Amino acid sequence: MTWSYATNFLCDRCSSEFSLSESLNTCPKCGGLLEVQYDLPKMKRELSPKMFASRDTSIWRWHEFYPLRDAANVISLGEGGTLLTPSIYAGPKLGLENLYFKNDTLMPTGSFKDRGFSLAISFAKELGIHRGLTYSSGNAGASFAAYAARAGIEATVLVEYLANPVKKATIGLYGATMATLHFENMTEITDMLEKGVKELGLYQFVNFINPVRHEAMKSYAYEISETLNWQAPDVMVHPVGTGGGIWGAWKGFCELHTLGWIEKLPKMVAVQPTATGPITRAFQSGLRKAERYGDSTKTIAQSIAGNAPIQGGERVMNAIYDSGGFAESVTDDEILEAMRWLGREGICAEPASAASLAAVKRAVVEGRIKPDERVVCVITGSGLKQSSAVQRAIPESMLRLDADYNQLAKLLVEIWGH
Ligand SMILES: [Zn+2]
Repeated sequence: MTWSYATNFLCDRCSSEFSLSESLNTCPKCGGLLEVQYDLPKMKRELSPKMFASRDTSIWRWHEFYPLRDAANVISLGEGGTLLTPSIYAGPKLGLENLYFKNDTLMPTGSFKDRGFSLAISFAKELGIHRGLTYSSGNAGASFAAYAARAGIEATVLVEYLANPVKKATIGLYGATMATLHFENMTEITDMLEKGVKELGLYQFVNFINPVRHEAMKSYAYEISETLNWQAPDVMVHPVGTGGGIWGAWKGFCELHTLGWIEKLPKMVAVQPTATGPITRAFQSGLRKAERYGDSTKTIAQSIAGNAPIQGGERVMNAIYDSGGFAESVTDDEILEAMRWLGREGICAEPASAASLAAVKRAVVEGRIKPDERVVCVITGSGLKQSSAVQRAIPESMLRLDADYNQLAKLLVEIWGH
């Protein structure tokens, strides 16, 4: 049995090929982004969906689709295999018959980043890397720190000054060294890190600059298609910061389509806040490359507040255009409403995650999503890590009573009636 069908890295820009055993971030020849390639014809001959049915439910269920060579290097905390929860509240309200939530609030560190870091850290361990660095608005830093701790890799996290205290503390709790990162716009960060890779030989874990993190996001496609009896949804709605999630999921769906396991591909929808949203802005202007745009401090959706996508967000734009999807931007008020709606579904989502449901509401009103379409909202992270936003969504109850039976009886009549 072949454990991995990955063959090599391929540069997006100059098409150079590199061995998977080289410890690379971006292309050493031209600085372009690297993409892992697979022997899909061989996979088509040798694999079938039913082979996966009896395996455990983590992302490692799909190990043939990742670049890790040796199972002994897997670092896992049980990431992946989260529920695809059918909507009982928002769907009926919006007239959508088939709305689902991919609930990644259930992940080990409370966000979808665990999919990517389980693979990226395992892969780094396989390469013999002992230390690494990433920057983060919070969730990625926490996930990186947790997996690095399990692997014995020394983790340094540059955490954006905007990150909330809970996220910062979590990074420290997992044992990473942390520095608060101040900047005017995010291109300064990516420029700094790209130079670090070149000059200092840094190994870093930033989405896309690290060439394997997003490979694990393909597990969205595998898990969702399997749950839907090997059919893709019609629409996948992703909150987008750097876009590792949407790009990974799209790559996964394309692989399944090439293998003949699903008949059609979903439309990919990117969601960003109106305060920033460089991807949305580029889409609305019909462009394939996104420019820096907006102010990251002006939204509660911290995890998707980036105003300068890596290398012009080309991968995200490709996923949107090639799938016939679209990009949507949503306001903080729409996000807060979506948080309350998700609460009625039993899901406590952080603002960036609730943005996906807010976007669905907009898209239904605009006629971009049809009532009979099967729609999946990716809920990327838990609201518990941004509790101030949860408090903003729901004001504290003004009801009060003393511990007295008569007062209780009176209060219940007030609430429930007779
Ligand atoms: Zn290149």
